[in-house]
Parts: sequence; C-alpha cells; structure tokens
Amino acid sequence: MREIILVKYGELALKGLNRNTFEDVLLRNIRRRLKYVGNFSYSKAQSTIHITPEAETDAECAELLDNAMPRLKKIFGIAAMSRALACEKDFADIAERAIPHLQDVLSNAKTFKVEAKRADKAFPMKSPQICAELGGVLLSRFHHLKVNVTEPEVTVTVEIRDTNAYIHAAKERGAGGLPVGTGGNAMLLLSGGIDSPVAGWMMAKRGLRISAVHFAAPPYTSERARLKVESLCEKLTPWCGSMAFYCVPFTEIQEVLRRECPEEYFTILMRRLMMEIAQRIAEMDDCGALITGESLGQVASQTLQAIACTDAAAKIPVLRPLIGMDKTEIMDISRRIDTYETSILPYEDCCTVFTPRHPKLRPKLEEIEEVQASVSWEDMIAQAVAGTTKKVFALHVAENNGVL
Ligand code: ATP
Ligand code: MG
Repeated sequence: MREIILVKYGELALKGLNRNTFEDVLLRNIRRRLKYVGNFSYSKAQSTIHITPEAETDAECAELLDNAMPRLKKIFGIAAMSRALACEKDFADIAERAIPHLQDVLSNAKTFKVEAKRADKAFPMKSPQICAELGGVLLSRFHHLKVNVTEPEVTVTVEIRDTNAYIHAAKERGAGGLPVGTGGNAMLLLSGGIDSPVAGWMMAKRGLRISAVHFAAPPYTSERARLKVESLCEKLTPWCGSMAFYCVPFTEIQEVLRRECPEEYFTILMRRLMMEIAQRIAEMDDCGALITGESLGQVASQTLQAIACTDAAAKIPVLRPLIGMDKTEIMDISRRIDTYETSILPYEDCCTVFTPRHPKLRPKLEEIEEVQASVSWEDMIAQAVAGTTKKVFALHVAENNGVL
C-alpha cells in the first residue's frame, strides 16, 4: 500500500457554519487545485479528507504527493496535513511498514511518542496497547530514541479507521481560515502597492471569494503599472482561486478633480469616487462588500476623519482587514504570500500621480459633500463603469506560468 495525504480541518472552524457546506466547498477547492497536478481520488471521514494519488508506480505516486503538498498549503480551511502510509488493519502489518516509513524522521529525532486513534472500535487492540507495542517496536529498531510523552520531538500517530490503518509522523500546518467561497463574494480595491494584496488575501482567508478592481489613469499611469497589478492578481490566485479583474479608466475623473476641486480635498474626493464606482462594479459581480488595504494613520487619507468621509460614499460594507496593523506586519505577510517583490516595483499609481501638497487631515463630511456636489459626476461615473475592462485570472494559467 502507498502513501496518501490526510487533510485535517479544525473542528473550531466549523463553529456556527454549516458543516456539510464547509466540507463540500473545501473538497471542491482541493480538487480544483490538484486537477493540474495529476489524478487523485478523494474521500472524507471524521473531519479528515483522504487524498489518494492515482498512478502506476510508487515513484509516480510519491511525485504526485510531492507536488500536491505545497499547493495544499495555500488552500484556506485546511488546519494541518500529513503524508500517511496506508496499512492493513493488522498490527503486524502496521509494525512492519512503520519502520521504513518513519526512517527519516526518527533517525533525526531524539525523542518520540506514539499516539493511537481508534475510530474503528472493533479493532482488537485498545489505543494504549497499540502505543505501547508500536513504541517497543520502534525503540528496538532506533536505539538512539527515547520516549517522551510530554514534549516529544516527533509524534507518531496511528489511526485505525474504517477501511485501513494509517501511520504518519510529520504533521504540517495548513493555511488555516475558512474555505474560499463559504463567506460570499467581495470586491478588492487593488492598487499596485503592498497593502491591498495583503488585504485581499486576509479576507479570502475568512472564506470570501475575491474579485479585484483597479483604477488606472493613462497616460499618467503606464501600461507597466497595470501589468504589475495584473501580476499581483495572478500571485493571489493560488490562495484565492480564479479571480475576475476589472480595470477602470479613471483619467477623466482625475483631471476634472484636479481642475475643479480645491487641492487639499483631492485625495479624499478621489477615494469617494473610487468607492462609488467600485460598488457599482461590485453589484454587477454579485459582491456584497468592498475590501481596501487602508491602515489607520498610515497616510493622510487614512486618518479616522478621512476614513469616515470615504466610508460615507459606500452603501455596502467596506472591509479593512489591515486597519490595526503596522506596516512591518503587513510587509511580513506580503513576503510570506509572495506579493512583496511585485508590489515594490517602482511604477506609478493613479493616487501618487496627483498627490496634493497639503492634504486635509481632518476633513468634515459636510464640507467634502459640498465640494463634491459642485461638479456633476454622474455621467463621468457611468462612463468609467461602461469603459471598465474585465479579465479573468484563472488558476490553471497561473499554474502554467509557474505561480504555485
Ligand atoms: P496600497 O499599498 O494598497 O497601495 P497605500 O498604503 O498605498 O495602499 P493608499 O494609496 O492611500 O494606501 O490606498 C488605500 C487603499 O485604496 C488601497 O489599499 C487600495 O485598497 C485602494 N486603492 C488605492 N489606489 C487604488 C487604485 N489605483 N486602484 C484600486 N484601488 C486603489
Ligand atoms: Mg497605494
């Protein structure tokens, strides 16, 4: 018998959620992700998904598992995973196969313990007996090892389940969170910066399916700047799944803003108009919320008063997962999810092209609304929405491009 992968989802994650929906969506996301790796069969039992590679030889199966593991680590909803050896439900078989399977891990460890989980109560040995006997077998083979039940370096787990027994030792942490798609849809305002990709990632982690909208102001912003944002979308797909990307032509609105409105209000008015347009596109894309990468106090447009003014322009909830985070914390995540190197490429954003010299730090909503009302925006907004282009970033394309 061969190795399989056991995927565990935390029981805690199921609180308040419909368990079946959670499992079905997770399984669907896993299938979608591994489809491009090769053939696998799937089954689920007791908060565990079993992923079995389908190939002719042991070596091919091992390769499938090698390729599957890093991809599984980017699937939200998975708490932990391990490569496990499937055995007959027979202690002699378990003991015999355990040794070669655990050779590498146990050779490099000083202490261990055995844990048994007996889901099949008809199995003739009770858990403590399985632990004691398998512990003895391993000690007689790996002489340098000592048992440590409180803080072992390696925990060898034997699970006796419906059709097979499984042995595994190296448990790897999953991405955690909730499966993408269990929480509804949201529209991420994606700039080319460090923050917004991280914000999208954080909300996908809470189960939201993400689409992205970007405001471009050619010729002030270049083609390269847009391509950078597209590349960020692609980098997010292993975590978020295939993603729709909307690019809004924002030049006219920015030019009118610059011409007609006091400079100190420029940024805040621009943000409000972005919100207005983003929520119209969100509505067409069936999204129930917007997501931004704003963080309190980071820049002038992110003071409490400025955020209140921006917020008032949106009728649907605006999620700001980075609101209480430091830049260094945000940067740490962006490195971990591999968007950082792309985000720091030095291309201009529409916000930076027209940055006012002295932005209003504590804008008042009535003032802002008054200034905004001095121009008739509706036709320009409708035109921007009509001129918006859509492109889908598909997971399999990212795979082909080597984005894992
Ligand atoms: P980021 O690193 O995400 O660019 P930032 O710290 O540069 O954020 P701002 O430029 O003030 O902050 O932007 C705040 C948020 O507004 C961004 O996180 C993003 O969600 C949204 N945003 C800014 N510019 C754009 C744009 N050109 N297209 C879409 N969304 C944008
Ligand atoms: Mg920015």
